[in-house]
Amino acid sequence: MSQVITKKFNGLNVPAGEKIVFVNGKPVTPAKPIIPFIEGDGTGADIWRASKRVFDAAVDKAYGKARSIAWFEIFAGEKANENFGNWLPEDSLAAIKEFGVGIKGPLTTPVGGGIRSLNVTLRQIFDLYCCVRPVRYFQGVPSPVVAPQKLDVVIFRENTEDVYAGIEYPMGSEEAKKLISFIEGFGKKIRPDSGIGIKPISKFGSQRLIKRAIQYAIENKRKSVTMMHKGNIMKFTEGAFRDWGYEMANAEFKDNVVSEDTLWSEFEGKMPDNKVLLNDRIADSMFQQVLTRPDEYSVIATTNLNGDYLSDACAAQVGGLGIAPGANIGDECAIFEATHGTAPKYAGKDVINPGSVILSGAMMFEYLGWNEVRDIIHSAFGKTIQKKLVTYDLERLMPGATKLKTSEFASAIIENM
Ligand code: NAP
Repeated sequence: MSQVITKKFNGLNVPAGEKIVFVNGKPVTPAKPIIPFIEGDGTGADIWRASKRVFDAAVDKAYGKARSIAWFEIFAGEKANENFGNWLPEDSLAAIKEFGVGIKGPLTTPVGGGIRSLNVTLRQIFDLYCCVRPVRYFQGVPSPVVAPQKLDVVIFRENTEDVYAGIEYPMGSEEAKKLISFIEGFGKKIRPDSGIGIKPISKFGSQRLIKRAIQYAIENKRKSVTMMHKGNIMKFTEGAFRDWGYEMANAEFKDNVVSEDTLWSEFEGKMPDNKVLLNDRIADSMFQQVLTRPDEYSVIATTNLNGDYLSDACAAQVGGLGIAPGANIGDECAIFEATHGTAPKYAGKDVINPGSVILSGAMMFEYLGWNEVRDIIHSAFGKTIQKKLVTYDLERLMPGATKLKTSEFASAIIENM
């Protein structure tokens, strides 16, 4: 039953629908959830137009009239600046807070405008501490490796700490000088012409991220969670990340999780049914492993910088960023987004690949518990690519492929549902 929401955001009425509520950090999805979207800059408008058609068609295919989405446009980036003189209006933030789940296209990071990346700002404001990046192969997508289908991982990257915390001082600054002399008090030497960055990794931040990864693995019947770290060198940050992970899993998931040590000491190396293996790998080894033994990995939980590198490396392995989806998830808020940028030179030309936003939408439907919609999108997307009906970026790499416009690609996906 639709609620009447009288509050306006950015001067706009909210369409008829219902609010998603959260119980214990999980969304409870009504039949017609109100979902705010940010179209995005540059190619964002082309991508959003195509993606929304795919989403609505998939929901219709799955549930007919019983369910639908009440899409509600909110503004950020260039469109917001043009209309409201503000890159990230308060009302857009208020709408995300009010409705909990949103989806966005890419946003320009203004250069020299003195404002921070809007993506980073959104993650911080809503404490979206998990960056989730599933990486899987769609048959037919050109890939630089021989067996790309062997990689099927979901990367949970910590999103708020590490060297991304923004605690950095330039060489010669008062802050850098003070920190250098402070550290000399511990008997350590730092060259005076050094810039200084700080890498905080907390027990709280690590455990909540690893917990989400384990919960995901249990709920989605994934076989393992691997904690990726560089703890052999950075013992009290990266190493502690791993130790806190095992400690938390031992306390909270004893019935569901088996660690690599216990696997051998108690189960003679044979994984018991219906349990998730928790292990860890050093970061450099992980990069080799995803290439040489990709099918041994399933869910990967890692710190911020490691996760940034690994997500793009894995995406490249299965055919690139144009079709890599992503989400930033907190306890009572989640924003699904394109992982590529605004590709401004293609703006308004109806040529860009909308795959990243379409597959991010599939992730959103999974998060909402509408798995039927996710499956319809995945299957139709896969079929369309197998028929070699693709946008320019894939067409130039696929002999014999048909080059489609953004809008035509969306239509082809819908036809293949
Ligand atoms: P970009 O927009 O990702 O584009 C770089 C190149 O990647 C494009 O020229 C295109 O290559 C290819 N590409 C990107 N998206 C594609 C898609 N959907 N389909 C096919 N090809 C795609 O990176 P950028 O030029 O460095 O950044 C432009 C702006 O985006 C900047 O303001 C940056 O800050 C912002 N950005 C935003 C996000 C975000 O919102 N999440 C992420 C990254 C960057 P070809 O020319 O070879 O076809």
